[in-house]
Amino acid sequence: MSDCIFCRIVSGAVPCKKVMETESLLAFHDIRPQAPVHVQIIPKEHIPSVNAITEKHAAVTAGLIAAAKEIAGKLNLSRDGYRLVINCGRDAGQDVLHLHLHLLGGRPLGWPPG
Ligand code: AMP
Ligand code: ZN
Repeated sequence: MSDCIFCRIVSGAVPCKKVMETESLLAFHDIRPQAPVHVQIIPKEHIPSVNAITEKHAAVTAGLIAAAKEIAGKLNLSRDGYRLVINCGRDAGQDVLHLHLHLLGGRPLGWPPG
């Protein structure tokens, strides 16, 4: 998907501050961080949103959460906590139509979100 910003990051056409990479996943720092730590964890495959997830994506979607746990540990968030967010669709404010898991932490996070 050449018009998808996250596919362009996966292909290397757009630079990112990489945090982790596996065969199927990439994690990088958000360009407009909403907390001291704000990392995007994405499948390398273009999946537009949670609405497009099917059985065949089971391993890669589970991998997003496993990667989040690992990154949280590396970035010293495990003790104080962190939040994982996936926005899906207009009402949730999903801007980038490539599935992504936000990992937010480094400060107390308000609840409920806006
Ligand atoms: P969402 O509103 O859930 O679609 O979140 C999209 C996120 O992607 C936002 O937090 C953006 O700041 C982030 N983002 C957009 N473009 C880039 C980029 N080139 N590098 C890193 N993060 C980005
Ligand atoms: Zn994409």
